[in-house]
Amino acid sequence: MNAPPPPLLVPQADPGASYRAQAAEIDRAVGRVLASGWYILGGECAAFEREFALWQGQKRAVGVANGTDALALILRGLGLGPGASVVTVSHTAVATVAAIEMVGATPILIDIDPLHYTIDPQELEAVLADPPPGLPPIRAVIAVHLYGGMAEIDAIVAIADRFGVAVIEDCSQSHGAMWRGRKCGSFGTAAAFSLYPTKNLGALGDGGVLTTDDEALAERIAALRQYGWRERYVSDLAGVNSRLDELQAAILRVKLTGLDAANERRRAIAAAYDEALAATPFAPPARRPGSTHVFHQYVIRCTDRAGVQARLRAEGIGTGVHYPVPVHLQPAYRGRIALGPSACRETERAAREVLSLPMFPELTDAQVERVVIALRALR
Ligand SMILES: *Cc1c(COP(=O)(O)O)cnc(C)c1O
Repeated sequence: MNAPPPPLLVPQADPGASYRAQAAEIDRAVGRVLASGWYILGGECAAFEREFALWQGQKRAVGVANGTDALALILRGLGLGPGASVVTVSHTAVATVAAIEMVGATPILIDIDPLHYTIDPQELEAVLADPPPGLPPIRAVIAVHLYGGMAEIDAIVAIADRFGVAVIEDCSQSHGAMWRGRKCGSFGTAAAFSLYPTKNLGALGDGGVLTTDDEALAERIAALRQYGWRERYVSDLAGVNSRLDELQAAILRVKLTGLDAANERRRAIAAAYDEALAATPFAPPARRPGSTHVFHQYVIRCTDRAGVQARLRAEGIGTGVHYPVPVHLQPAYRGRIALGPSACRETERAAREVLSLPMFPELTDAQVERVVIALRALR
């Protein structure tokens, strides 16, 4: 019989740790909301929207129920739905593609640059110049900044501009990532952020926010998130219900004050892993020159992934796979989604090889050291 695995000494993620790190402040914020008697779209949400927009360096932020809705509401706000195709990647959370179909638009999934796991600009150019036949015209591209690293956003915006296509940024894994000192989310028409508990900025429940410098778009989306109301009980637009509640907004205001320090800590952990990997066959994750990475995940590639996972697990170290099956191969999507010219070859290879090491800001120095020792032993 096999010995049972040792207890997990270093989990891959631990959303509870982010609460414990700011528990007193969060408890105070929660108490304030509970006592206020106002639970939906009040002062906390408005304040979070102001503070998040300021932190982003953008004009407007709109709080919504989750990251998927943030993407869908941006598409709706831009008038995109049936009759539009939207290009994005297959190597992403299914949510990115689900949002496109939620509004009735048609997804086209293209391949990634294997070094950074984000849109391959050459594929984008090829698919815009010569779209798959029989689909509605391409009206937007969703650039996903995956794992905390920037997509090649300047090239993506330049190509999209040339074809008159809107750029939406999916920043659900990249709160605070920058390119040439400018925050992700400020390059396209609008940006969506998931605030799911494990994200770099995470609520203690569901939440999402979107940002834009287009005031009219922000107003339209703010109405769409609540039955299309411009004023109470008057629906100018056919909207939905996707609100950020006051409890989550108050918690997020506390968490936002710690976000820059938390991202700094993620980078320090990443630097320790980099050094440990230097003596092994495994390459540390690439950083795009001129960019600031925020390490939502620290991802290495291994051809014997199961073997490496087992060796780390034997040392009490948890790992994850983001993501084991690309969207276009998931049962719900398989065989019915148009792909780019390379048929997502690099995406499928990445799905077989990527491995996410423990990464969250509250990892202790002792836990990081434990991972470092285990990584060095992989030589
Ligand atoms: C988490 C995530 C989403 C979806 O967010 P939800 O808040 O779970 O709806 C969308 N895109 C990416 C890249 C994500 O990582």
